[in-house]
Amino acid sequence: MWRSRPGQGEAIRIHLPDGYSVPRSEFLVKIEYQTGPDASALMWLPPELTAGGKYPFLFTQSQSIHARSWVPLQDTPGVRFTYEARIHTPPQLLALMSADNDPLAVRSGEYHFSMPQPIPSYLLALAVGNVFFEPIGEDTCVYAEPEILQDAAWEFGDTQAMLDAAEALYGPYQWGRYDLLILPPSFPYGGMENPRLSFITPSVIAGDRSLVSMIAHELAHSWSGNLVSNATWRDIWLNEGTTSYLDARLMEELYGKERADEERLLTYQGLLEGLETVPAEMQHLAPVFQFADPDVGQDGLEYAKGQLMLETLEAAFGRDTFDEYLAGYFEHFRFQAITSEQFLDYIDSALLQKFPGRYSRAQIEQWLYQPGIPESAVVPASRSLEDAAAMAIAWSSGERPVDELPVEQWSPQALVAFIKALPADLKEDQLAELDQTLGLSAAQNSEIARAWFIQTAARQYRPAYDEMRSYLNRYGRTRLVKPVYQALADNGEDRALAQSLFEEARVGYHPLTIAAISPLLQDASE
Ligand SMILES: [Zn+2]
Repeated sequence: MWRSRPGQGEAIRIHLPDGYSVPRSEFLVKIEYQTGPDASALMWLPPELTAGGKYPFLFTQSQSIHARSWVPLQDTPGVRFTYEARIHTPPQLLALMSADNDPLAVRSGEYHFSMPQPIPSYLLALAVGNVFFEPIGEDTCVYAEPEILQDAAWEFGDTQAMLDAAEALYGPYQWGRYDLLILPPSFPYGGMENPRLSFITPSVIAGDRSLVSMIAHELAHSWSGNLVSNATWRDIWLNEGTTSYLDARLMEELYGKERADEERLLTYQGLLEGLETVPAEMQHLAPVFQFADPDVGQDGLEYAKGQLMLETLEAAFGRDTFDEYLAGYFEHFRFQAITSEQFLDYIDSALLQKFPGRYSRAQIEQWLYQPGIPESAVVPASRSLEDAAAMAIAWSSGERPVDELPVEQWSPQALVAFIKALPADLKEDQLAELDQTLGLSAAQNSEIARAWFIQTAARQYRPAYDEMRSYLNRYGRTRLVKPVYQALADNGEDRALAQSLFEEARVGYHPLTIAAISPLLQDASE
């Protein structure tokens, strides 16, 4: 079947009577409409896919171009609007939006919202469910189903401190309150920076605050992305790359340089892996976009490569100077959407020309318009991760017995580095020894489990397959499940198994997750 530009929707044309003319300010159009059951932004969850199992849950995911599936609007980050909404729900459920949520709102089934700051359409958001709130700071709280509310409030207890740190570095927070909403596990992303109310996957509730860089990331979007937006989806690195840089800075402020550097190095390693599969012309930070769907293309490279460029610039100009530049950048472009070229012109005059000889416009252009990583990049290093990776070699070669691995000293990130560094020729009894000693198949930390199940799937280590199956059913976050299916499909034996596991688990997955995984599992003959 021939389809023109799938997922792009249709234009609404409004015809005015001949000769009709009014001053612009008095012009009002009222559109009555209803969404269809397959609106791509809306995830209607039955009760069995929630933590409590008793009430249905609805959440939206408008980014990148799905706002148009539930509201007729100009669906581009280049257009901003304010909004008001009145939402009717079953009376026992609470509605929340990317707006002025009132933690003390009475559960009535009718809720009013106002968003006074102008936002782009991809930040329009709504959620309805059996959720309650718990304050975690002066201007911050967590909303979640009661079954996970206390765990979430503890896990994200540093949110107010992150907000304070971000304001000290990058200028005032412009949005009023900052709250978190913990969604059911089918949420396809780690987090979504809906203004005033970040949507967060429950998969980062690890019990030890080890995965809270997700919160630092979504919070940082209050500056990069929500305040200064990408003008088009080709400029998304301005949003995600800058946010990834800020998120590492906030992690360093709160938890110290060693932990921040561990996360920087893991991000950098992910970038190197991505460069092996992303086509060269899509490796530019500002590529010529070739896809109708902006969710397809750079495979996350815009996050890590953008972060690396900003870290390189920070090293060239010094942290204090670069912080001052960034705060000025957010102030200069606040509530605007800009292109990569506007960024380039601004940094040229506000930074490069002020400190000549440190870094050139041509060097920045290399990041924006060339594939790969420029030679001038300042690559992150982490002694603790490198030591853990070296231990993987020492253990596998028999140099160091498993009970002498310094696991107690390792952060969860170091354990991930150890698992990723396991050599290709491990024997099944070695994997069994590791699993029994470190309890990897039963890991509750979703990043440790992810790293382990990628390895076990790639090596056909079948004793872990039952736990792997539970893992694939437990989470719907694309980052967690997609690479495991990929490893199964590519291991030469388990493509059919991957297909049947996917058939079983997909009922709990979001359409975006299903769309990301389906192509991996198709038979070569199809
Ligand atoms: Zn982000």
